[in-house]
Amino acid sequence: MEIIAVPAFTDNYIWLVHDAPSGETAVVDPGDAAPVLAEAERRGWTITQVWNTHHHWDHTGGNLALKQATGARISGPAAEDIKGRDGALSEGSALDIGAHAGRVIEIPGHTLGHIALIFDDARIAFVGDTLFAMGCGRLFEGTAEQMFTSLQRLAGLPPETALYCGHEYTLANARFAAHVEPGNHAIAARLQEVQALRDNDEITLPTSVAQERETNPFVRATNWQEFAKLRTEKDSFRS
Ligand SMILES: [Zn+2]
Repeated sequence: MEIIAVPAFTDNYIWLVHDAPSGETAVVDPGDAAPVLAEAERRGWTITQVWNTHHHWDHTGGNLALKQATGARISGPAAEDIKGRDGALSEGSALDIGAHAGRVIEIPGHTLGHIALIFDDARIAFVGDTLFAMGCGRLFEGTAEQMFTSLQRLAGLPPETALYCGHEYTLANARFAAHVEPGNHAIAARLQEVQALRDNDEITLPTSVAQERETNPFVRATNWQEFAKLRTEKDSFRS
């Protein structure tokens, strides 16, 4: 599987997933169709599937235009209103691209029906707006307890698993992480790395389960109450 980031809006990433043997290409969370169609055309890839992690417009706004342009099959969370959805996904649902078998887990918190798409063979997970590098999504619909449980499920994947998130929020998250864990050397080192990448306008994703276990305060919280305090503090943190 080849995975390409297509930047959209100010800080979204739309992920293009290409499987060369089958010629299939999936798009994860297309908030906008135009940049995705342009990138696919540039690479000579034909979009066959759209996968949504949750209903927010910046993750689904391009669904209908992509379907119209390519005939792609749209799969998204069963519990949410997803434009153009053909396949409704819930805990344990299967999702394939070529010979790669994916599975769905439900990770509520940011939204109530939010899902992650996991490809165990390739050690890849698409996590939408639930986990960000060194941070996590805001609690728009769910509770702190739900989000804590969802993050722990993602953190329980094999350490080498690559995590593909929906936004480039890493630098702001790293500053908050350094603020709440000033003695954590892994966080301090990663803040420097991320700063250097962003100074050159480079992407900081994907992250990995191992990195998040070491440097993400929201993943490192030991119970949901501790998580809830961090989330509240981050909501008003200005770096
Ligand atoms: Zn969202």
